[in-house]
Amino acid sequence: MIVLKFGGSSVADAVCMRQVADLVRAALPESPLVVLSAMGKTTNGLFEAAKAAEAGDLAGAMARQRALMAAHRKAAEDLFEGAAPESLDVALTDLFGELELLLRGVALLRELSPRSMDAIASLGERLSTRIFAAFVGGGWVDARTVLRTDAAFGEAAPQPAAIRALAAQHIGPLLGPGRAVVTQGYIGATEDGLTTTLGRGGSDYSAALFGAALGAAEVQIWTDVEGVLTCDPRIVPEALPIPELSFAEAAELAAFGAKVLHPATIQPAVEARIPVTVRHTQKPQGRFTTISAEVRTGRPITALASRGPVTVLTVSSSRMLAQSGFLARLFEVFGRRGVSVDLVATAEVSVSLTVEADVPLKALQEDLSAFAKVEMHEGRAIIAAVGERLKSTPGLGARLLSSLGDINVEMISMGANEINLSLVVRQEQAAEALRRLHRVLAGSMP
Ligand code: ADP
Ligand code: ASP
Ligand code: MG
Repeated sequence: MIVLKFGGSSVADAVCMRQVADLVRAALPESPLVVLSAMGKTTNGLFEAAKAAEAGDLAGAMARQRALMAAHRKAAEDLFEGAAPESLDVALTDLFGELELLLRGVALLRELSPRSMDAIASLGERLSTRIFAAFVGGGWVDARTVLRTDAAFGEAAPQPAAIRALAAQHIGPLLGPGRAVVTQGYIGATEDGLTTTLGRGGSDYSAALFGAALGAAEVQIWTDVEGVLTCDPRIVPEALPIPELSFAEAAELAAFGAKVLHPATIQPAVEARIPVTVRHTQKPQGRFTTISAEVRTGRPITALASRGPVTVLTVSSSRMLAQSGFLARLFEVFGRRGVSVDLVATAEVSVSLTVEADVPLKALQEDLSAFAKVEMHEGRAIIAAVGERLKSTPGLGARLLSSLGDINVEMISMGANEINLSLVVRQEQAAEALRRLHRVLAGSMP
């Protein structure tokens, strides 16, 4: 079997869904499992409706609910040219009824827990898959019966062993040549049946999890670009498609902000040795990227990505740094506060590290001040250059750094895996830094 995942822009309206249906039909001999995102920007709309309800603005929340309802009903009408099956109509009415109840509950209590937010966010994928499955025929599976997660609402961690067993039970029997099975990305459920989500952009991750659980021959990520490009095309329009990427390169790119793939996507596929391809829904015959374990590329740098804002913390202690146990004590603070550290660079008397912008800075400062001096710089961005020959290409580091000219680099870190060189710059200079670095990349292509 194969997994085909279509992102929000690929299922944004009836015209897009028809294209997706053509692709799914073409894949029928390969027993496709179709994993869909919510239509277009529906998930954003659901978040906005929930926030309005939380603020006590029930009218605003209901207006957004009605706008979403109108868009989904229109898509269904257009797809079926005015003759949508009654069962679809009933399903949509039920789902929008559920959304209304949830929003009213939030508005009444003026309380939006991550658990309520997940219940609300799940509606996007449940709606898009209902409409699409009715149109394309075949099976429909509620991902919450298969995609078992823990109860970390908003960013739940999947439980692969349970998912494997549940997929065999609920999806396996429906799969077969000539038949499509449709399910939702992004959403899952706890053992108790509470709805969870894998975090924004999580449908890619779902696709990889389903693929690994079912032993897919390939996981296809269908989106609005011709694969993974050498840089985000919105920042560097001349970015080039990358035909082949190694798992390690793709994982680094995703983790450092290449939105085209959810950061965790690659891992289940790597473990199961399943190739992942990234393809353009509107240009199915065009170029695409294959991500697989055994790629040996001759490229010094493969791609660039950036992530921000992040905060840089510089922790210094002339007394303690050289002594054993200092780093342990330092990282214990981050561990205890549940804050993950991205980049680390050490010097004789100080350690610099980056954390996400939304971490509890005050608390960290307090804890760290007990044994060291702390400086914090907010509004920074991490820029990562990724490539399997990054380290072994003489002079490349110098060329990259000198290309930045007057852009100040505040921190440099060479990833332990040798394929990632990360730089920290001010957030407002990140786009220009990417453009300058990309010229070096383009000039070093074989
Ligand atoms: P989907 O809705 O299909 O999941 P996303 O919007 O999540 O699509 O991801 C695709 C987008 O990722 C592209 O439109 C592009 O703007 C952005 N992007 C960022 N970095 C890259 C990159 N290196 N290669 C390709 N696309 C990228
Ligand atoms: N619909 C979800 C989101 O917008 C998941 C996804 O599209 O991958 O974040
Ligand atoms: Mg995405």
